[in-house]
Amino acid sequence: MKQFQFEYTSIGKLKRELDKINQWRKSKVVSSVIFEFYAEDTERSQIELACEIIDREVPDAIYMGCSSNGNIIEGGLSSSPIGVVCTICEFPSTQVKLLHYVLTAESVTDVVSDLKKQLAKNPWVKAVSMLMTMRGMSMTPFCDAFTDINPEIEMFGGGAFNPDLNNDEACVFSKNRGYTSKGVVFLLFGGEDMHVMTTFITGWKPLGKEFKVTKADGCVLQELDGKPAYEAYYRYLNIANDEHFFNNTLEFPFFYRHHGIDILRAPISSNEDGSLTMTSDIDKNVTARIAYGDPWTILESIQRDGRHIADFQPEIIKIFSCAARRTYWGDDEISKETFPFQSIAPTSGFYTSGEFLKTDGYLNQHNVTLVVAALREGPRDSNVHFEMQNEQFAGKVSMINRLATFIDAATMELEEVNKKLAEMAISDSLTGLLNRGEIQHRINECLKLYKENGPKFSLIMFDIDYFKRVNDNFGHKEGDTVILKLTEIAKKTVQDLAPDGSVGRWGGEEFMVLLPNAGSDKAMRVAEVIRTTFAAVDFPAAHHKTISVGVTEALPSDSSDTLSVRVDGALYVAKENGRNRIVVK
Ligand code: GH3
Ligand code: MG
Ligand code: MG
Repeated sequence: MKQFQFEYTSIGKLKRELDKINQWRKSKVVSSVIFEFYAEDTERSQIELACEIIDREVPDAIYMGCSSNGNIIEGGLSSSPIGVVCTICEFPSTQVKLLHYVLTAESVTDVVSDLKKQLAKNPWVKAVSMLMTMRGMSMTPFCDAFTDINPEIEMFGGGAFNPDLNNDEACVFSKNRGYTSKGVVFLLFGGEDMHVMTTFITGWKPLGKEFKVTKADGCVLQELDGKPAYEAYYRYLNIANDEHFFNNTLEFPFFYRHHGIDILRAPISSNEDGSLTMTSDIDKNVTARIAYGDPWTILESIQRDGRHIADFQPEIIKIFSCAARRTYWGDDEISKETFPFQSIAPTSGFYTSGEFLKTDGYLNQHNVTLVVAALREGPRDSNVHFEMQNEQFAGKVSMINRLATFIDAATMELEEVNKKLAEMAISDSLTGLLNRGEIQHRINECLKLYKENGPKFSLIMFDIDYFKRVNDNFGHKEGDTVILKLTEIAKKTVQDLAPDGSVGRWGGEEFMVLLPNAGSDKAMRVAEVIRTTFAAVDFPAAHHKTISVGVTEALPSDSSDTLSVRVDGALYVAKENGRNRIVVK
């Protein structure tokens, strides 16, 4: 595999470079020639002219490309609007196939199903590289449609873009179909000597507090923890809703797990209702955290992940990097994160509107991420050691990194304490059962649901008979032992017979059991097991004790008061009628 990369600055220059390629080919065995060119320019005539010249000068070559937010040539941001990359495959076994479709929300299913047919027909395919226009379209249906393709096939690529971040006009083009303003180009390649490795690198790290995405619709993130999403940026980062919003939040995109991997989504704008429009779809009900990016942390990740790419010994590297990264670094610095790859192999690519990579069977859309594909024809050479050019990172931990570590550690401690406090607030200190406030709260919730045609439920209330005598005759400690034994029996019985039930301590030696989804018959059976099991216990000093029990099922006319009064009344009757018994009311 051999690659030529050059900047297209004039027609003369393009022709000279194509001549060089043709010269080189003369003495070589070549199985296929692929031109990819990225244009930081959507000017149709310019692009078509370049296509025409390639077509004429290298007629057996295939070509494909897209408009972009910047081109990566020889590992760095190209200063000219069009960068051309010519890849020449040298192994006879290598095969490539170009496909180009019109892509709209309506055509997604047909496009994907046709691609799958092509993959079935061409079992040599090892990887699919793709370029597509997105133009405000949700790419979730596109990604989801690929779930059942052969897991061995690598898929990667990028969304075409525009030099102007606020303009979603874009195009893809290829030898098959020419210029399309809404389209997707797939390059299928493989064969027994072709080897492909892919990975993605963000360098952004999650920071501090977790937020739950409570409301989201497509790429609009409406609420975090039940509050307008914008508030999180204002409250925790003091980012105002002004013209700098996009740039300021770029350093702090959202970070969450999707299909088992880390995904970033950056806010593009904040809306009047406090919702945020994100770079692409965000899942509902996920736990997201704000992430931070700082140059040292990012470059360190590149070095770490770059080692695996070097071990693969690629002949060429393709990078699909987010346009947001270019904005984040600025044009003078952006190449710092791509140049290290050039020390491994010729590196090219472009700045995208979205990066795509199949990982563990799922095609994911990334944002603010570098998707990297490394390609090689033929075996690795174990006598050669590939290495990524290394900046000296030892000891250079940035201030931001240290502060982020501090915030993470402090957040974790606070979260643990909060969890403990929340548990303490609802439990009883002697028995660990739910306290009266919590069990009452749960009864109210069940009643509310029941009144909205929810399931029936029942209560069991019980009290130890002649308990005062235990304290009086054998001391408070023996009294506590009896209470704790009854706690254990009640908990176990409810767990075994009605796992959705809750046991609470209502007062001193008085307990309340809430049984959702249970009528009074079921409640009677549970109560009977508690009563008989407890009566059978032989305490060291107090010997056998008993309980009296009231049982009731909620009625449509009940308020929480009438319900408690009725179950309490049932318990009172049980006491009156001689104790150690159950009364249903
Ligand atoms: P009855 O059969 O009518 O219920 O008789 P009783 O003796 O159980 O009557 P009462 O409800 O008046 O007595 C409850 C006693 O429980 C009073 C109180 O000192 C005792 N008690 C309340 N909480 C605790 C506790 O946490 N530990 C101990 N050891 N005793 C408690
Ligand atoms: Mg009692
Ligand atoms: Mg009592």
